Amino acid sequence: MPKALGFAAQAADKPLEYFEFERRDPTENDVEIEIAYCGVCHSDLHQARNEWGGTVFPCVPGHEIVGKVTRVGKKVTKYQVGDTVGVGCMVDSCRTCANCEDGYEQYCDNGFVGTYNGEDKHSGGVTFGGYSNRITVDQDFVLKVSDKLDLAGVAPLLCAGITTYSPLRHWGVRDGHKVGVVGLGGLGHMAVKLAKAMGAEVVLFTTSPSKVDDAKRLGADHVVISKDEEQMKAWRNRLDFILNTVAAPHDLDTYLTLLRLNGTMTLVGVPAESHPSPAVYNLIAKRRSLAGSLIGGIAETQEMLDFCAEHGITSDIEMIAMDDINEAYERMLKSDVKYRFVIDMATLKQK
Ligand code: NAP
Ligand code: ZN
Ligand code: ZN
Repeated sequence: MPKALGFAAQAADKPLEYFEFERRDPTENDVEIEIAYCGVCHSDLHQARNEWGGTVFPCVPGHEIVGKVTRVGKKVTKYQVGDTVGVGCMVDSCRTCANCEDGYEQYCDNGFVGTYNGEDKHSGGVTFGGYSNRITVDQDFVLKVSDKLDLAGVAPLLCAGITTYSPLRHWGVRDGHKVGVVGLGGLGHMAVKLAKAMGAEVVLFTTSPSKVDDAKRLGADHVVISKDEEQMKAWRNRLDFILNTVAAPHDLDTYLTLLRLNGTMTLVGVPAESHPSPAVYNLIAKRRSLAGSLIGGIAETQEMLDFCAEHGITSDIEMIAMDDINEAYERMLKSDVKYRFVIDMATLKQK
């Protein structure tokens, strides 16, 4: 079995460090990938520090993976050696439940297999993610990546891109809609770009005054400092849809009251502690909805990658070396990311 190099958390309170492990040789349906870049999602930090519970250590995070195919199994028809490909948050699912059959593998009734910290059907152990030089994945969970786009900027599309694209599509965002995006981090900056490309008028809500100019450059038509009550009041009852990407518990009512009649706010952030419950009256008063959304299915992820290639959309990234990962986590906690860290896997060397 091929040896893999990576970075792992050995415990919730330990920094990530160099770790060697084995990947399987490709089975007949598998694609082996040499990883070029891996994005750093806030979910990686939540899980490496066991903030959601259930993390199995050692944990090799990373689910925004792009690279080149190095070997394929004999039944692989979709990919060839040398192809540029991506892997997102899932590497398998039951494939037989109603949700899998409908292309909603992320909502698999039997639980999808996460790219990391998932139950590995092959080894019986736990899956290891993309903070690594190589990975072996079933062809049905591998995505085609356009060579037209900057590859490092594509990596974050595999989670931040699809997690924002899917709800924008599901709630039918289009020309003429006023869409709020809460938080300008990895997910938020993709939401701004995608909602804009879908034709919406975009209002970005941020706690960071230093991000105002960037938000406008990224495509926001309006930027609101969410701590400023007067600025918030000016948007009451005006938004058709809000995508809330914040990774920490906060008052949802301040945003729900910005929705117009029949408007929806969808949560995609998964804070370690839940938000305080919103006031029922704010929902009733304008028939508003509060919803949630989880990544996206494989077919929709491919649709999103193709949409981004067509519209020239990638993530704004800050490239880091593998050794810088612990510092990157600390900066992410301070909302100091512009707007996604991406690990250059060429910097991961045997120790
Ligand atoms: P991120 O890059 O750290 O961005 C989060 C942004 O939220 C920050 O940049 C900041 O933006 C804002 N924020 C942070 N703390 C805040 C606070 N205390 N109050 C108000 N705003 C705050 O994180 P990310 O990678 O985009 O991920 C965001 C969340 O989505 C995480 O919880 C992650 O686990 C989750 N996630 C969910 C899914 C899903 O399928 N649903 C998929 C991926 C990630 P400003 O500086 O602009 O205020
Ligand atoms: Zn993620
Ligand atoms: Zn299923």
